[in-house]
Amino acid sequence: MEITITKRTQLKPKPDENNLVFGTEFTDHMFIMDYTEGKGWHDAKIVPYGPIELSPAAMVLHYAQEVFEGMKAYKTPEGDIQFFRPMENFARMNRSNARMCIPQIDEEFVFDALKQLVALDQDWVPHAPGTSLYIRPFVFATDPFIGVRTSLHYKFIIILSPVGAYYATGLQPARMHVEDIYSRTVVGGTGEAKCGGNYAGGLAAQEKAHDEGFEQILWLDGAERKYIEEVGTSNIFFKVDGKFITPELHGTILPGITRKSVIELLRSWGEEVIERRITIDEFVDMYHKGQIEEVFGTGTAAVVSPIGGLEYQGEDMSFNNGEIGEYTQKIYDTLFGMQTGTVEDDLGWIVKL
Ligand SMILES: *Cc1c(COP(=O)(O)O)cnc(C)c1O
Repeated sequence: MEITITKRTQLKPKPDENNLVFGTEFTDHMFIMDYTEGKGWHDAKIVPYGPIELSPAAMVLHYAQEVFEGMKAYKTPEGDIQFFRPMENFARMNRSNARMCIPQIDEEFVFDALKQLVALDQDWVPHAPGTSLYIRPFVFATDPFIGVRTSLHYKFIIILSPVGAYYATGLQPARMHVEDIYSRTVVGGTGEAKCGGNYAGGLAAQEKAHDEGFEQILWLDGAERKYIEEVGTSNIFFKVDGKFITPELHGTILPGITRKSVIELLRSWGEEVIERRITIDEFVDMYHKGQIEEVFGTGTAAVVSPIGGLEYQGEDMSFNNGEIGEYTQKIYDTLFGMQTGTVEDDLGWIVKL
C-alpha cells in the first residue's frame, strides 16, 4: 500500500523544550488509514495534524471498541533518532486488537509509516535532557451505528507529542494506597488489552486516591482482592531479600514492554527475577520482617517510578526510607541511557530511524 503525503504549508511554532507538559503539544503531521470490511486497510496517508470528522453515531463513542499503544522516539547526543523495541508495541497492539474484535494491522507496514511520519516531523524530537517524542498509535470503530456488534469500519491513527523529563526534580518516590472498592479488571476481562475502556473504568479509583492524598493506586485482583497486580498504569516490581519479584501475567495484567525489558535486563546482570502471584498479606508480612528493599513501577512514560511508601489497613509503611533504591536508579539510568544513546545497547533493543 502506498502512503500519500500531504505536507502542512505553514509549520507550527515548536514549544520550549525545557517546559514541555506531557501530552499537550502535537507535531505538524499525523498518519491515518482506514479499514473497510471486505476491502481491508486502505487510504494510508500522512496529513497535517488536525481534527478528524466522525459521525456522532460512530460506534467507538458508544461502545468503546478502541485500542491504543504508547511508545517513544529519542534523540541521541549525535542527533540520531531511535526507537526502543518498537515491534513489541505493534505486536501487542495486534493482541489487543484480537481481544477487542478489531482487525489486525500489518506490523511492518505500520512501523514503516511511523518512520516516515517521524522523519517528516524530526525537528519535533526534542533533545534537552530527559525529553523524548511520545508516539500514540490508536485504532477505533467508526461505523455510524448504535446497535451492539463488531464495527465494519475503523480508523488507525498515529499522533506524536514531544514530552519533557518525566521527573522535573529527579525520581521522586510516590506513596501508594491499596484500592479496596474498585477493580481494574478480572480474569476473562480486558485487563491484558491496552484499551481505553480500562482507563475510563479506573478513573474513579484514581480520583479517590488523589482525594485521600496518594499519588498512586495499588490494584489487587478483582476476584479475591488478595493478589497484587499493578500500580496505577504501571507494572510493579519488589526487591525482596536480594531477589526481584513481579506479579506473573495471567490475563488481568497489562504485559508491559518495560516490565519485560526490566526482567531481561536484571537477568542479564545475573539477578534473580521471579514472576509469581503475590498477595498483599504476604507483601506486608515481608515488610514486617524487613525484607522489602525496593518497590518500583515500570512503564514507557517514566521508565521506572520509585514507590516510597504504602498505606494499608491503617498502617503506613515506608520502603528504603522513602528514597529511590539503588537498583531502581540503576535500571532507570541503564534503560533511559540506552534509549537516548548514552549507554551501549548490548541487548539489541534499539532500532534507528
Ligand atoms: C501501558 C501500560 C503499562 C506499561 O506498559 P509499557 O509497555 O511498559 O509502557 C502497564 N500497565 C498498564 C495498565 C498500561 O496500560
